[in-house]
Amino acid sequence: MKPIEPVMIPDDETVARWRSDFPIFRELIHGNPLVYLDNGATTQKPSAVIDAQRDYYEHANANVHRGVHELSQRATDAYEGARERIARFINAARAEEIVYVRGTTEAINLVAQSYVRPLAKPGDEILISAMEHHSNIVPWQFVCEQTGAVLKVVPIDDSGALDVDAYRQMIAERTRIVAITHVSNALGTINPVARMIEAAHARDVPVLIDGAQAVAHLPVDVRALDCDFYAFSGHKAYGPTGIGVLYAKADRLEAMPPWQGGGDMIRSVTFDKTIYNAIPWKFEAGTPDISGAIALAVALDYVNAIGSETIGAHEAGLLAYATDAMRAIPHLRLIGTATEKAAILSFVLDHVHAHDVGTILDQYGVAVRAGHHCAMPVMQRFGVPATVRASFALYNTRADVEALLKAMAHVQEVFGQ
Ligand code: PMP
Repeated sequence: MKPIEPVMIPDDETVARWRSDFPIFRELIHGNPLVYLDNGATTQKPSAVIDAQRDYYEHANANVHRGVHELSQRATDAYEGARERIARFINAARAEEIVYVRGTTEAINLVAQSYVRPLAKPGDEILISAMEHHSNIVPWQFVCEQTGAVLKVVPIDDSGALDVDAYRQMIAERTRIVAITHVSNALGTINPVARMIEAAHARDVPVLIDGAQAVAHLPVDVRALDCDFYAFSGHKAYGPTGIGVLYAKADRLEAMPPWQGGGDMIRSVTFDKTIYNAIPWKFEAGTPDISGAIALAVALDYVNAIGSETIGAHEAGLLAYATDAMRAIPHLRLIGTATEKAAILSFVLDHVHAHDVGTILDQYGVAVRAGHHCAMPVMQRFGVPATVRASFALYNTRADVEALLKAMAHVQEVFGQ
């Protein structure tokens, strides 16, 4: 048997080197060094990504797929080359299975409107979970309103783990799609998506995975998972905002009608009949985010060069350290304590609103998210209006955790706790 190679946990010097790739850390926030713990909302960008966008505009800016001139060729080559690198990053079988979209939200809406809506009949079911982000709830509610389909919600337990037994039982004859998050943005829970996809496929139900919180933090192999659809956003994976990916198996894309009409998604147009372009371009109407796509590939190359396992191991170390320390704070309750967790730490303080905590932490340069995290049903499940969320990325350090703890001590002073 091949020995399993141990994942290297990076030393402080290595992490400091990664951190120096991100120019934002030269910023001072209210006179303090930046402690950026809002990575679940968006990650910071390495110079390589920022340079790639600048480089594109300085040396290759033109529209794609339409010019005969040199710049248009450069833009098209870079844009399509990026698609190939993105496909390799998630181990898609073909570059054509990568559809550029604005982000996870648009990817899920595309599947909802173009794949599920034409299939769904009154009484059909769409299966999601109780820990979904609004962008994996509301698009399905649209489809339910449009078709008479019904939304079914798999429950979660008090730790924030999905009830897998209930899930298995809820996959039914009339389930048209399972749409589940890989990692919960509000709780950090990592769902056992491989097993869940297998269970759905055993009943011929296709599966969409919301990978917004996963791609930058753990290895994602869409072929090993065998998911039908996988959605993610560039900006949560060290890439620019405004660009994201819908991965879909080629046969699913072939079966889907285009969603938006316009330039580039057609092969020919007359007033009587329009013939659509091949996949994936039939889903990419209009001038796309060319520099964004190119820079997203650079971001994923950056992640790949470090290694998703290494990043995951580093972040797991930070999570364990921060979790132990936060548990010792009086009147603090962690929300989301599943065994399988990504580096997201949600918490509430008795009698103190999350926004007040976030505002005080900001005074010390500590950026966290405070609110419902676009997951109001999760807040309802745990009986809180909002949480404070610290979420980690590859450039975070133990010193960042210590800065958070120090700033939390100030919060407690202010509120007399
Ligand atoms: N799903 C999850 C789990 C998320 O965390 C987010 C972003 N917070 C989204 C979907 C939506 O991503 P975007 O806003 O980039 O479309």
